[in-house]
Amino acid sequence: MYELLPVKKVYIPPHPFATDWQAVIFRNFGTVSVSALAKVLKTDEATVEKEASRLGLDGIAYDPVWKTKGYITIIKNNWYLLDYAGICTLAEMDETQLAKTLLDDDFLFVKVGNFKPEVVAPVYAPLTEEQIRFTEAQAVTVRENRSKDRTPYFEFFKHVPKVTSASSQNADELRMVYNYNELFGDNLMTGDFSAYTDEMLEGLSKLGINAIWKHIVLYELVGLPFDEKYGEGWEIRLKNLGVLCRRLAKYGIKLWLYLNEPRALPMSFYKDKPHLLGVHDEQVGVLCTSTPEVQKYLYDAIQKIVTEVPELGGFFSITASENLTNCYSRREYDINGCPRCRNRTRVEVCDEINAIYQRAIEDANSSAKLVAWTWGWTSEMGWTLEETLEAVKNLPQNVDVMCVSEEGLIVRGDEGEAGLIDYSISQVGPSDRTRKIFLAAKESGHKTVAKMQINNSWECASVPYLPCFELIWKHLQNLKELDVDGHMLSWSLGGYPSFNLSLVSHAKAGGAIEDWYKEMFGSDWQKVKAASGYFSEGFEKFPFSVSLAYFGPQNVGCANPFYEEPTGLPASMVGYPFDNIDMWRGYFSKELFLERFGAITSLWKKGLEILEGVCEYNSVSMKRIAEAAYCALRSVYLQSKWIVDRDLAAAQEEFENTKRVIRLSAEDPSIGFEACNHYLYNENTLLEKLLSLKKIMEKNNENTGK
Ligand SMILES: [Zn+2]
Repeated sequence: MYELLPVKKVYIPPHPFATDWQAVIFRNFGTVSVSALAKVLKTDEATVEKEASRLGLDGIAYDPVWKTKGYITIIKNNWYLLDYAGICTLAEMDETQLAKTLLDDDFLFVKVGNFKPEVVAPVYAPLTEEQIRFTEAQAVTVRENRSKDRTPYFEFFKHVPKVTSASSQNADELRMVYNYNELFGDNLMTGDFSAYTDEMLEGLSKLGINAIWKHIVLYELVGLPFDEKYGEGWEIRLKNLGVLCRRLAKYGIKLWLYLNEPRALPMSFYKDKPHLLGVHDEQVGVLCTSTPEVQKYLYDAIQKIVTEVPELGGFFSITASENLTNCYSRREYDINGCPRCRNRTRVEVCDEINAIYQRAIEDANSSAKLVAWTWGWTSEMGWTLEETLEAVKNLPQNVDVMCVSEEGLIVRGDEGEAGLIDYSISQVGPSDRTRKIFLAAKESGHKTVAKMQINNSWECASVPYLPCFELIWKHLQNLKELDVDGHMLSWSLGGYPSFNLSLVSHAKAGGAIEDWYKEMFGSDWQKVKAASGYFSEGFEKFPFSVSLAYFGPQNVGCANPFYEEPTGLPASMVGYPFDNIDMWRGYFSKELFLERFGAITSLWKKGLEILEGVCEYNSVSMKRIAEAAYCALRSVYLQSKWIVDRDLAAAQEEFENTKRVIRLSAEDPSIGFEACNHYLYNENTLLEKLLSLKKIMEKNNENTGK
């Protein structure tokens, strides 16, 4: 069932080492076992240890936690270095497990570029005298810049805000995030909820968060009445769902479930059940929600969940886009392919699904809530605004309406413009479109929920939050004018227990922002407010485009190499940005792109200067995150400068910039981590960047005769 990605012959980007096998040791040492490295390089463990030491990596111990919590980092670090067999050995997976991980782990196959580069597997061979001298010189740089005393990786919550009085968790108003360090995989089956740590839950609770959401596939939780083979083990998952709910309840947090149903099934399923089939292609078909059987399935399923797990907070439903679900869910399927839905409207079909969910909840006398998300009820999916408004008005009374606050805001570059879909902190919502939807919802008696990214976004995902408090505050004030009832504050990134979260309760309570600063940052409050003013002013200049958010280097930051020769490689989605600046800049010219990042980072620099000498615990930890974000944003500027005019000063500054990130991320291991990418960079990859910059600088100095 699972197949590995096809192998393609492409340009392999260079690394700074004398041999390929040294790159394998350097990039992985500490994150994989020495025995696995020895096996891959066809040598013995003593040789690996000796050569790691020669590279300056002595004394670094292997931490087996990487195998379970950091395997995506291992796969990505080796994608252009090893063949499949080598990657499997290092990640301790067989080929089927690797193929499954690539397919199932939040689009990992897209992140790595949808193909496997062909490589010649490196094998250990003794170094020549010249190579030894070269390596020893590199080791000096490595030893000089290695962190001396690092907090272990994955210890994310050492620097969560300390609060004197906890923010209100007001149970009537939704304030929901995703688990900051949720692992993909079937934890409802295993019952392993170790990623829901006490320190995280306590942190979230004190900051006013009252809900955490989780992905589910409905039949995995309740079985599929049409075919028992689907969702095997659902009884265990449903039981564990209750366990998780009760664990969160200790902190006043409720669990919410993502509903994107019913999931399409393979065509083989419909052989003896053609009456259930809606739109389809050759491989998969929709369980048509216009049939009484499928409607009954959805009703029974929701009722079973809320009855068996009365502690559940609720559901949010997506009826257009994401996975193939109902007959109108994906635009690429012609509605004429369904004999029933072709005579109905998309508004009817989507509203009906939400109505079924709501009826099931109410008939069970459950306290669970349903939020209908307007996600995908957009022009991109063929919806007119009138249809969206009609769908909102026709939802059952007790269903709340959720909308992405910034959806539809226009961002203008000098080479074009585009309407925002989501994932922006720099562009402050709500948009006119969202205002209209919320207004229509309120008029028809619905409560409203604003989806926003309050902590971070793909505008800079390697820090757990962006301290742009003024921007967030402005956004929350704008939403207050609309009397928004609840907030979904993060997609799968952005669930860190940070200062930003507590702004919601504070805004809701009608307090002045100065009081919030005083409470959070004590004697440093004025400095923090002034600094955040600069961060916010700078971040508003972010040249947002979907292209930049997904393909730009701001997420990997300093770990993205400078290349001496153009690679010609295409950037991959939140994977490898390479030097593909034409992809990064979206509809901004290179000049304007550079100008914007120059302006953003000079304002952030001013903000950081104000923070020099802050002493309160909270201010110090916030300053560290601000600095790490600055380095990532500055790196975009420096990388672009290097690509555009091979400016050696950019390489020199990037060297210092990277050193700074090594220090910061050693102090706070949340820096560089994002749940669905694991570590976007670690100390090894940052040190490797230093070596490649050094090589570039030395070569250029030789060329200019210095
Ligand atoms: Zn249909």
